[in-house]
Amino acid sequence: MALGRRGKIRLVTFDGDVTLYDDGSSLTPDNAVVSRILSLLKRDIRIGIVTAAGYTEASKYYGRLKGLLDAVNKDQQLTADQKTD
Ligand SMILES: [Mg+2]
Repeated sequence: MALGRRGKIRLVTFDGDVTLYDDGSSLTPDNAVVSRILSLLKRDIRIGIVTAAGYTEASKYYGRLKGLLDAVNKDQQLTADQKTD
């Protein structure tokens, strides 16, 4: 968690495997963390997800995080900045 100058939370990072989802598994749309992460994004809090997976292809990260990435993409309340920052 990182705080800005006024003590406001600016960034929250999560471990992926064994924390957000089972070891070697993926973040699926039915995962309860999806709506919670969307709530943080709507408060202008940036999200980081840390993994030791060493893929060289972006598509493999997309596959692992598809449930969250698709939810962010289709959410109609998030601003463009909140989706991309
Ligand atoms: Mg882990």
